[in-house]
Amino acid sequence: METIRTIAWMKEKTREARQEQRIVGFVPTMGALHAGHLALVEKAKKVCSPVFASIFLNPKQFGPHEDLSRYPRPLETDIDKLMAAKVDGLFLPDASEIYPHAFSTYVHVEGLSERLEGKTRPGHFRGVATVVLKLFEIVQPHFAYFGRKDAQQARIIQQMTRDLNLDVELVVCPIVREADGLALSSRNTYLDAEERRAATVLYRSLKAAEAELAAGVRDSLELQRTIHKVLEKEPHARLDYAEIVDAETFEPVVQVRQHCYALLAVYIGKTRLIDNMLIEAGDELRVEL
Ligand code: AMP
Repeated sequence: METIRTIAWMKEKTREARQEQRIVGFVPTMGALHAGHLALVEKAKKVCSPVFASIFLNPKQFGPHEDLSRYPRPLETDIDKLMAAKVDGLFLPDASEIYPHAFSTYVHVEGLSERLEGKTRPGHFRGVATVVLKLFEIVQPHFAYFGRKDAQQARIIQQMTRDLNLDVELVVCPIVREADGLALSSRNTYLDAEERRAATVLYRSLKAAEAELAAGVRDSLELQRTIHKVLEKEPHARLDYAEIVDAETFEPVVQVRQHCYALLAVYIGKTRLIDNMLIEAGDELRVEL
């Protein structure tokens, strides 16, 4: 696996592949890789060759009081994992390569970026959309792989891709979870043993809502109440939001209908975790956790 540190070299690698009529796949990450990231690579490998991954801890998507400085950076083990997964190239730029002096152009996806994650983390999605557009321009993939774990992020990138007529197809992959249901996240490493046990409350509360859906409940308030009840019983948990939203607009819905998300953001101690459940409530109910 080649490690590619400059934009010029990354562009050259992708240009070569495209000239040979090959299908370029891309998995953008911030590093501290786990099985969730590797599932994206595996999916990409099925269709694309070469598959490029990037590790870039994007400073522009962290607020001033967020965890940029203490975000885990286990670069050596990350490289081992990507090599084992047979990634063809790792794009590993410095922040100064991506944001040179006097950088001043940003992408803002209106509306979708202001809600939920965007409300608690102002400017977060501006940073995400900006870096993802830059990475798309640099890597020029045919297919780019994202996790449904960050459902709002995936939706915002899809909107940007449409609005700006980008020639990239997005593939959104299922959430990879621990055996006890906790969604894998680089931030799980912040949890101490007791918090780690408490963190399953996100999954448990979504499971409780799933059971209500299966019993025929479609009223969002009732589902939210069920989620709250489970969360309230967990002393380490503090709710940021629990919302049932339309999967296109991310606006709250009164009644669950086709293509919704139940979205959760919960503090476990000082660590903020997110999780979600995709709900397709047409003639038949289909739920994806
Ligand atoms: P990050 O390194 O946190 O920016 O994540 C990089 C990509 O991996 C994003 O598209 C995430 O949605 C995805 N991802 C993170 N955790 C998971 C997970 N547990 N399951 C599936 N995808 C994930």
